[in-house]
Amino acid sequence: PAIFALRSSHFSTAAEPSSKQGSPPSVPNLIGGSFVKSQSSASIDVINPATQEVVSQVPLTTNEEFKAAVSAAKQAFQSWRHTPVTARQRVMFKLQELIRRDIDKLALNITTEQGKTLKDAHGDVFRGLEVVEHACGTATLQMGEYVSNVSNGIDTYSIREPLGVCAGICPFNFPAMIPLWMFPLAVTCGNTFVLKPSEKDPGASVILAELAMEAGLPDGVLNIVHGTNDIVNAICDDEDIKAVSFVGSNTAGMHIYSRASAKGKRVQSNMGAKNHAIVMPDASADATMNALVAAGFGAAGQRCMALSTVVFVGGSKSWENKLVEAAKALKVSAGTEPDADLGPVISKQAKERICKLIQSGVESGAKLLLDGRNIAVPGYEHGNFIGPTILSNVTADMECHKEEIFGPVLLCLEADSLEEAISFVNRNKYGNGASIFTTSGVAARKFQTEIEAGQVGINVPIPVPLPFFSFTGNKASFAGDLNFYGKAGVNFFTQIKTVTQQWKNLPGSGVVNLAMPTS
Ligand code: NAD
Repeated sequence: PAIFALRSSHFSTAAEPSSKQGSPPSVPNLIGGSFVKSQSSASIDVINPATQEVVSQVPLTTNEEFKAAVSAAKQAFQSWRHTPVTARQRVMFKLQELIRRDIDKLALNITTEQGKTLKDAHGDVFRGLEVVEHACGTATLQMGEYVSNVSNGIDTYSIREPLGVCAGICPFNFPAMIPLWMFPLAVTCGNTFVLKPSEKDPGASVILAELAMEAGLPDGVLNIVHGTNDIVNAICDDEDIKAVSFVGSNTAGMHIYSRASAKGKRVQSNMGAKNHAIVMPDASADATMNALVAAGFGAAGQRCMALSTVVFVGGSKSWENKLVEAAKALKVSAGTEPDADLGPVISKQAKERICKLIQSGVESGAKLLLDGRNIAVPGYEHGNFIGPTILSNVTADMECHKEEIFGPVLLCLEADSLEEAISFVNRNKYGNGASIFTTSGVAARKFQTEIEAGQVGINVPIPVPLPFFSFTGNKASFAGDLNFYGKAGVNFFTQIKTVTQQWKNLPGSGVVNLAMPTS
């Protein structure tokens, strides 16, 4: 039977009628504190990528339902903005406890809908949980500034105030972490929120929202609407939504960035990636190979911080054979299998796209050192599996290098020097993450200074920052000014009000001075 891990009273009530008839449950929206089944007649199947079972059906929410969600958020803002920050933080303290309590349920839902291994799904939840923990300190994070006596008897101070209704649009690859990058900080800063989960794996968002309600988040502070392009466009256009957080592909991200900012909204848009590792000949061989295999093939390469390209400098190219041996040893199976190292990719279309990019590499002269395209996974013959694949002799102009593959495919290139390797990496349009493996501090420092990437790793393969820093991105990997979480995240979800106050006994001379005041 399909495992749909949503079992709480909210969801099962909405799901029961259709489950009883044998059809998959409909994923509910959350509007004004109630989990409600959409009235829409159009829906999309949520498919388990390891088995092709239909797990649930996600509705294409109607415009009326969307408007109701925004209206509930707008109404809730009136009291939530005046709720003391200590009380808002207390909801986050409770939420982090509840996420820990239900982490297995969340992870099982993620594995069922998204495909990653259960252990990796725990990591997905845990990295989001850390943002909730961080949001527990919002009072300190959003403190303003004060300068006394800027002029005689006059003080100036700034306060950070919430924006109003904010919205978040999520990708499929981190069904828990990315919603948790968005709504916890937004609401603890005093905003209310409308979340649009990925239509491919909406279950974790609904479970997280149930937990947020259980933690004491008032009705209407967090709302969920499901759907695809139409609902996203409605979010971009809606006059009551003040800010949009987006994570996903460049096509959608640039469209959302332009459309929402044309309507005067703040937008933070985290997009695609092509992350490179530069391997210097002095690097520690075994540790580096382990790091490359884990960062290239973990989550079947469907991480925006996956290391998908290795640039071997000088003598380190001879390590390719070790890489192939280590990759061959990985077990590909359904994420629920305890010994699986990597699961399937998200959809048949994704598998087709990845295979096409591998083939285009081969046709343009790359050498296929390991081919995972025709892998057979016993017991899961219908899954969208691709085994670890390694292409060598790749060059910068190849399609497989220019485009994000987002699958378990590692490209290997060569460079004669660190300079050449850095210039090679910087020529790529993306700038999400990049790492160097070396024992030379001089090489590491040069790399750190010259590389054009938001997240830089030095002997660290996936340098995703913890929430007290921000997740950034350069070039085509990010659009906007204020990044996700950390100080920038708090700034994104608040606006500055600057107050100038005068408290002194004012002389009653009756002289009016029309000149610009100076101190
Ligand atoms: P996607 O862009 O297809 O979908 C993301 C969201 O946008 C979904 O909610 C979807 O419904 C919506 N959407 C898609 N196309 C749209 C359109 N034309 N108009 C309006 N809305 C649209 O992305 P995905 O496949 O779910 O996620 C994978 C991508 O996300 C990869 O490119 C990956 O690198 C990127 N990603 C980036 C980061 C980061 O922090 N930089 C993190 C995770 C994923």
